[in-house]
Amino acid sequence: MPADPTLDLDLAAVLDESRRLAASITPASGPWDAIVVGSGAAGGMAAYQLAMAGVKVLVLEAGRMVDHRKEYRTMEWPYASPRRHRLPPDQRAIAAAEYNFLDRPYGNDPAFAKHKKLASYAGNTFTRNWVVDEKQHPTTGTPYSWVRARVLGGKTNFWGRVAIRYGPLQFQAASRDGFDVDWPFGYEELKPYYDKVDVLLGVSGTKEGLDQVPDGIYQRAHKLNCVEVHFRDAVTKLGRRYIPGRAGVTTDGVLGNKYRARCLGRGRCSRGCDIGATFHSPTALIFPARDSGNLTLRPYSVAAEVFLDPATGRAGGVRVIDANTHEVMDFKAKVVVLGAGCLDSTRILLNSKSARHPDGMGNSTGLLGCYLSEHHMGPRGSGFIPTRIGTEPTLDDGRPTGPYIPRFRNVTDKHPDFIRGYHFQGGSASYEFPGHAQDLPGFGKAFKSSVRKYYPAQFAIGGFGEVLPRKENRVALDAEVKDAWGIPVLRFTYRFSDNEIRMARDMADTADEMLRAAGAENIKIDPTMLPPGWSIHEIGTARMGDDPKASVTDRFCRLHDVPNVYMADAAPFVSGGTQNTTWSILAMCWRTMDHLKEDLRTQA
Ligand SMILES: Cc1cc2nc3c(=O)[nH]c(=O)nc-3n(C[C@H](O)[C@H](O)[C@H](O)COP(=O)(O)OP(=O)(O)OC[C@H]3O[C@@H](n4cnc5c(N)ncnc54)[C@H](O)[C@@H]3O)c2cc1C
Ligand code: SF4
Repeated sequence: MPADPTLDLDLAAVLDESRRLAASITPASGPWDAIVVGSGAAGGMAAYQLAMAGVKVLVLEAGRMVDHRKEYRTMEWPYASPRRHRLPPDQRAIAAAEYNFLDRPYGNDPAFAKHKKLASYAGNTFTRNWVVDEKQHPTTGTPYSWVRARVLGGKTNFWGRVAIRYGPLQFQAASRDGFDVDWPFGYEELKPYYDKVDVLLGVSGTKEGLDQVPDGIYQRAHKLNCVEVHFRDAVTKLGRRYIPGRAGVTTDGVLGNKYRARCLGRGRCSRGCDIGATFHSPTALIFPARDSGNLTLRPYSVAAEVFLDPATGRAGGVRVIDANTHEVMDFKAKVVVLGAGCLDSTRILLNSKSARHPDGMGNSTGLLGCYLSEHHMGPRGSGFIPTRIGTEPTLDDGRPTGPYIPRFRNVTDKHPDFIRGYHFQGGSASYEFPGHAQDLPGFGKAFKSSVRKYYPAQFAIGGFGEVLPRKENRVALDAEVKDAWGIPVLRFTYRFSDNEIRMARDMADTADEMLRAAGAENIKIDPTMLPPGWSIHEIGTARMGDDPKASVTDRFCRLHDVPNVYMADAAPFVSGGTQNTTWSILAMCWRTMDHLKEDLRTQA
């Protein structure tokens, strides 16, 4: 196979910058008011809010810096890579089925012995320098495809941009169906923060007046194309909605951020948007916060635990292992904000053991790590819409996200087989790579003309369903297995319940029903559920609540047990609805930081 030019990325300068920065910041470089762990959506928003308010912040990021101009490779063609962006031969991404039959830790499996790096399913040419190596970052227990990115900005560097709000159906889910508990507050309390996030970061979409996905403050939306308009008209007759995607992308521009520009409609956003139209934490939050002069950013800083100040019983700071030198250092501050991602923040707390907190910090109830939830995915449907078969293709692949079918189950009705609900994402488009070609029969000239004929008419949707938050779905520390830095890894105990399995069946049935209603040809329905973790929307392992005996954090995401430790990511979320998580992490974090700022002000 010829050399792959898409792999030639010279990272020497950014690696050098990362090492230099890490070496220059020691515990003596302080003092800092607050330490923020992680720099993704949560850490980025926490650092931004604090630094812009004049709080002296130290951000501890386990990964390296990112060179957004070089590493966001928006302009490369698919044919530049002989493997069409699959990983090089000495690296390997785990496939869907493998998650289900391989014993963990995956990295120890002899099947992967010959591969230098083993990545999660999200590993490809563009993300391979960001996605962690399972051999260095193993996990144990039941199958879970835990996608992690250890680099400045975390997973926001290549997230899917679907930016939707939680609504009253999520916050008061328990009151509606009697399962588990409600959030300690309702949508109205978070709404002003969603509004502020929309304005600060930019989101495109349309106002639809739906309770299940409340409207935001939107910039120019991307329109439905004509296949999608046809599908929308068909499903409207079924009483369902099909609306333009809501994308965490600025289409009209945002004020006061020199790192960002408005969307040019090029469509390769998942490689990182080099002009900063997509929300990525570095360009949208971290770099502007650093420009305030109040933010110190230390890369290569693996937070191992939060340590106690024995005199006060409060957190004294964060113990860090330098990712390169393995030097152990204690960084001190008045408050600690954990934003390492739901599961890594939980792991840090579980590992923060002391005489006062023998089972980990914030774990006096034994609930830390419980109630792991996310979305189940897999059931999908596809077909060709006849009115467009054999017509000219349109230029559709410049959209940062596809359209959306909001939840329609258990909104006004009560489904006999399951509680809660699901949504679908997907649509039609003539993308630069004609994915449908792999499904069409034939070869040679006839095959090519068949690919062209069906290219403008293809249509596909896939579902995202709520996984019920259940106490028994949990993570704990594995006493035997450690990561490359000697920190105990997470052991998963996580299974889908009958509710999810019944809901997935209904997803496949309704996908079929809607494609039929739209008169689609060659309908294919795949009812297979993807492995746990596939949604990359993990939430709930440090759940919030007003009762310290039944929750880990209070309603402001502050540990009941140690009140100067805050959680900025989705760990405190009570339930996740069907919605993708990031916009809610950002809004919740802003709210939490407002509370923390007030705390710091009254302490001063
Ligand atoms: C391919 C893909 C598509 C996605 N699509 C969508 C979508 O369409 N819509 C949506 O809402 N969400 C989507 N997501 C999920 C979204 O990326 C996450 O919700 C979001 O990034 C979570 O933010 P976070 O800050 O909690 O975690 P992360 O973004 O993962 O950031 C965590 C940061 O903490 C750092 N860290 C971890 N452990 C430590 C430690 N011990 N010490 C120091 N630092 C540490 C990591 O290096 C990382 O930088 C997608 C994700 C992926 C990968
Ligand atoms: S379509 Fe817009 S958001 Fe996506 S890469 Fe292009 S400019 Fe960036």
